[in-house]
Amino acid sequence: MAAIAGVAGCLGCGASKSRQEAASTAEGAPPAAAVAFDRDSAYSYVAAQVGFGPRVPNTPSHRAACKWLASELRRHGAEVIEQPMRLTTFDNTVLDATNIMGRYNTASSERLLLLAHWDCRPWADEDPDESKRSQPVDGANDGASGVGVLLEIARQLGRENPAKGVDILFVDAEDWGTTGQEDSWALGAQYFAAHPPVEGYSPREAILLDMVGGHDARFYREYFSERAAGSLNASLWGIADSLGYGEYFPDRIGTAVTDDHVQLIQAGIPAVDVIEFSPSGGFNSRWHTSSDNMEGISAETLGRVGETVMTYIRRNY
Ligand SMILES: [Zn+2]
Repeated sequence: MAAIAGVAGCLGCGASKSRQEAASTAEGAPPAAAVAFDRDSAYSYVAAQVGFGPRVPNTPSHRAACKWLASELRRHGAEVIEQPMRLTTFDNTVLDATNIMGRYNTASSERLLLLAHWDCRPWADEDPDESKRSQPVDGANDGASGVGVLLEIARQLGRENPAKGVDILFVDAEDWGTTGQEDSWALGAQYFAAHPPVEGYSPREAILLDMVGGHDARFYREYFSERAAGSLNASLWGIADSLGYGEYFPDRIGTAVTDDHVQLIQAGIPAVDVIEFSPSGGFNSRWHTSSDNMEGISAETLGRVGETVMTYIRRNY
């Protein structure tokens, strides 16, 4: 994931109306019956991605992981579209990248888009040890965690098809950016928004998962998400609370984060980002370091996020 945006966060402000919305959503909804979501399976999906090595574009690990992601979606019954792209980064590197989309119930025009980035940052440039800053990150949390949750959701959708349409999108080349150049990040999502792989593609809403595997991770309502799709945020946070995860999903507006969802919002798709950051605006301490490895991944956190999103899908799609 990219960066805390240069917009002043307003943690705690303006959330009272949304809180009411969340409360009424929770009241009107059936009791939070357990939906099928296997947190250990999600964890295994994170480990499997890390097992390929850093999924940095233009490397053998990246190419192998790309094939595997597409084949997993097919194995779980999705109709898969691969979108190969040639992208030029801020440092003039030409990347051969691929967005991968798995689609369920393609006949339905009412669609939910779920997404996560699957590439890894080529440099651990936030590492406290200077000698490690030129090495790529494992991206266990920053990349693999969101994809791991979505692969487990794909497995569940393969067992019981949604009544409406659900698309799972793995975007590439999110993390080859540089501080101070907002458009250097999220290159795959930029390409997707400019070149929808399905004619007239227009999902009703989108949910981005990024850095959703950290131990004891807290998820605040991200600022750009709140502006673009506050009612979707309210529904998700209401569900998390009804599942008993309110402690981990504080119902407060957090800071603004530059991430893939911003590209969708700019393209007219209401989108939210479920992402860990602290009230002071910082990311998980392993972010963009050599420590973003499996030791930083919690099956419990993956489960809290996965069950919340899966419940939203079963209730609305
Ligand atoms: Zn990142």
